[in-house]
Amino acid sequence: MAHVTRIENAAWAVLWDQVAGRQVYARDVDLVFCDDSITHIGPGWAGPVDAVIDGRERLLIPGLINLHSHPQSEPASKGIREEHGVPAQFMTGLYERSLAFRLDEAGRRAGAELAYADLLASGVTTLVELSAPLDGWLDLLAQSGLRAVVGPGFQSARWRLENDWELGFAWDPPAGRRGFEVAQRIIEEADAHPSGCLSGIVFPAQIETCEEALFRDAFAFAEASGRPFTTHISQSVVEFREIVRRHGKTPVQFAADLGVLAPRSILGHVASRDIHSATTGDLFEMATVGGARALARDDLGRLAVGAKADLVLVDLAEPAMRPLRDPLKSLIYHAADRAVRDVFVDGRHVLADGQPLGLDRHDAAARLEEAQARMIEKVPELDYAGRTAAEIAPLSLPLASP
Ligand SMILES: [Zn+2]
Repeated sequence: MAHVTRIENAAWAVLWDQVAGRQVYARDVDLVFCDDSITHIGPGWAGPVDAVIDGRERLLIPGLINLHSHPQSEPASKGIREEHGVPAQFMTGLYERSLAFRLDEAGRRAGAELAYADLLASGVTTLVELSAPLDGWLDLLAQSGLRAVVGPGFQSARWRLENDWELGFAWDPPAGRRGFEVAQRIIEEADAHPSGCLSGIVFPAQIETCEEALFRDAFAFAEASGRPFTTHISQSVVEFREIVRRHGKTPVQFAADLGVLAPRSILGHVASRDIHSATTGDLFEMATVGGARALARDDLGRLAVGAKADLVLVDLAEPAMRPLRDPLKSLIYHAADRAVRDVFVDGRHVLADGQPLGLDRHDAAARLEEAQARMIEKVPELDYAGRTAAEIAPLSLPLASP
């Protein structure tokens, strides 16, 4: 039996205007979804209803689409990366940190659980998850309730540091090929996953760590199978200069000459200095239909009949949302996850009253804390200069002696 949910009288909603081809505000909206899809918007629904949600104090928006995230590794950087930077590497700490701070598999899993929960609580419903393969990865994503596009990373070279000014590369092309094969298998398993909410993206990890032939083959696989493609490109001045040194062109010019720029190619980072010219409306379009377009999904990122029931209910009574002249500005500039109450993905209730239903945040945070302690312990063995974590990334204040 189909399950029908009706959201009644949403005080505000962001609806997709098909004629204008853009998102618009609407007031006092009724929206009905049946199983995984939106079936009706507006008054006059006469069919049966299994569940009713009172929308009088709610802003109803399409779920957000996050096109670039590293949920397994980044949560463990809390307290480490915020002010960490290497002057001779134009203040990026990426290389030094990722070589010296290595999280174990249990830590990556705990980080993923915590990040998935936090992303859902922020209104994200579709996540492009770019990570190294993890045991049980697809099942964990399905358990979270997110709609996920998995990108198992692979590369022909590993970064290497022997000093703080020169990034080296340890090339191992066969490892890159093996990684590509594993990635293809995981992507195919994602497509076939019984949750119906997983798919894959082809992700050679960085433009400077992949052989040209591997990069081209990865793009050809994405094109032939209709899948999206992404990589890190222009993510630091160090990388920019490395590509210019090797090829005499910028990373984006190099990617264009390799032939890997296409409508479904997502360039991660492409260091931008000016986001102030984007309005809230622009940002919201990018985080919804823009993301959907990059993933070639016209059924995501919009509230419209026929679209997937991926939607977010924001509490307009939350004081951080008020005064309520412009709900998206209140949400984005002020309230953020404090006001996100309920999230549905594929018609399934996955966040209720701000709490993820498929994940335990407290348990994940406790396991991540233990994993971070293990990671910190090993730093002197891994750092090129044998330093401790406290030397690389000191605490904000010195600890008083007892
Ligand atoms: Zn990244």
